[in-house]
Amino acid sequence: MEKKQFQAESKRLLDLMINSIYTNKEIFLRELISNASDAIDKMYYKALTDENISFNKEDYYIKVIPDKENRTLTIVDTGIGMTKEELDENLGIIAKSGSLSFKQQNELKDGYDIIGQFGVGFYSAFMVADTVTVLTKAYGENQGYKWESSGADGYTIEPYEKQDRGTEIILKLKENSEDEDYDQFLDQWRLKNIIKKYSDFIRYPIKMDVTKKVEKEGSKGEYIDVVEEETINSMVPIWRKNKNELTEEDYHNFYQEKRFGFDKPLKYIHMAVDGTISFNAILYIPENVPFDFYTKDYEKGLELYSKGILIMNRCPDLLPDYFSFVKGMVDSEDLSLNISREMLQQDRQLRIIAKRIKDKIKNELLSLLKNEREKYEKFFQNFGRQLKYGVYENFGQNKEDLQDLLMFYSSTEKKLVTLEEYISRMKEGQKYIYYASGESIERIEKMPQTEVLKEKGYEILFFTDDVDEFAIKMLREYKEKEFKSVSSGDLGIEELEGKTEEKESEEIFKKIKEVLGDKVKGVKPSKILKSHPVCLTVEGDISIEMEKILANLPN
Ligand code: ADP
Ligand code: MG
Repeated sequence: MEKKQFQAESKRLLDLMINSIYTNKEIFLRELISNASDAIDKMYYKALTDENISFNKEDYYIKVIPDKENRTLTIVDTGIGMTKEELDENLGIIAKSGSLSFKQQNELKDGYDIIGQFGVGFYSAFMVADTVTVLTKAYGENQGYKWESSGADGYTIEPYEKQDRGTEIILKLKENSEDEDYDQFLDQWRLKNIIKKYSDFIRYPIKMDVTKKVEKEGSKGEYIDVVEEETINSMVPIWRKNKNELTEEDYHNFYQEKRFGFDKPLKYIHMAVDGTISFNAILYIPENVPFDFYTKDYEKGLELYSKGILIMNRCPDLLPDYFSFVKGMVDSEDLSLNISREMLQQDRQLRIIAKRIKDKIKNELLSLLKNEREKYEKFFQNFGRQLKYGVYENFGQNKEDLQDLLMFYSSTEKKLVTLEEYISRMKEGQKYIYYASGESIERIEKMPQTEVLKEKGYEILFFTDDVDEFAIKMLREYKEKEFKSVSSGDLGIEELEGKTEEKESEEIFKKIKEVLGDKVKGVKPSKILKSHPVCLTVEGDISIEMEKILANLPN
């Protein structure tokens, strides 16, 4: 029997698990159960889409078996199983190695849910077990296999005569130590609680033999032990439950269980829609920016279920790009299971669902802005840029959806304000919404072009993001007020007209132009300067800041 080494990254992660000082060890069970459930999903889905496979609902279950004598805890499933190659690939290598390097770059904070975070579920077994044995037989195979590992020194795979399809994971629990109690994972009550807490909504029954005291028939007060197989979980998925049965903690647990994020969600949205098309959805706005969010590696999308069965891990068509930060899932009775992924993209039903979801997210954000300003600002600081890109893309088609969600720093309020708020404060006769672009708030404050406007009491929006001005160019106007850069030649303010006596200075300007030559188009007296002697303005539609960005774009 050959002994194989774990891949380097897996090995490091394994070390982390084995030597984990991580207190929340109980979640290993959640991870193993969720793998078992995934494996049954795969089998179940196969059966539903292939008429040659017959199935009985009773055939699909998970069983948890504590054995006090041998100090083992076994998790049995009747899922799709693994072939020899799959054992090698799935349990010898960590798929999402990117997340490990992320962890190394960002020192772990105390109490961080490392496992939930990095999708390294299976390895969490080593937090509680010295040896992990996997017995498995894959769907369509005659030969079963045994995979075994005692941690860092590698693993073995050998043939094993297994009767039924599916997987058994046997954990040889660690010995109790002074500060760690592993016996708890052999206790029926404790196991029941853990399963209820984390895996209640798993769609398949999680069974366990439970010992009960029953009064002996005909006796008075004489009890005997009776062992009965019980289904521990309610099996109702959270999204099928009534909203008022659910607590915030339930939603947070689901977010974590699904690994939608490393953080707690800033907001959750539960949709239960009935009508021409019926669907349930649970959506989350993360509290923090996912580490790869502003990179090209980030993939948007929602989990898509049809009648409770997962058909797609990440369905991108359910979310517009500007809401790509939203995590969650959708389950609909009205989607056909057999549609292929390509067909799914054109599915009319799907488009209707996507539209409803988009509108809902928009409205929830608007109400967050109205009712929980601080939370909204936090949200905007994280994902506002994405909204602004949204305004910019598709030639401003998303304008209606997005314009009221935008915020910019205001010269007079010294904080983020909405366009609506700006408009409501405009001075009498003010024609434009003024903005100034620059690298930072401090820089813009010092711009000579802002001086007169500020002195006259006009509010200026500060654009510090590259995308700001591009987005505003697409908006063109908000409630019929056009946007105007403070650097543009004509600010449209009457009280500034006729301020300078051009004639007298003509000679000087000519001289300056001669000296500067082609560097400037012209030199003119300005109506907007106060304490600064000169400033740059532009004639066309594009501000100096925008020109800088355009000039630096790769061709
Ligand atoms: P993840 O579940 O995020 O993919 P895990 O570390 O939990 O990561 O599991 C790794 C892989 O091992 C799974 O993707 C799956 O292919 C395989 N696997 C784990 N447990 C089982 C099981 N009980 N039955 C079948 N395959 C399994
Ligand atoms: Mg897993």
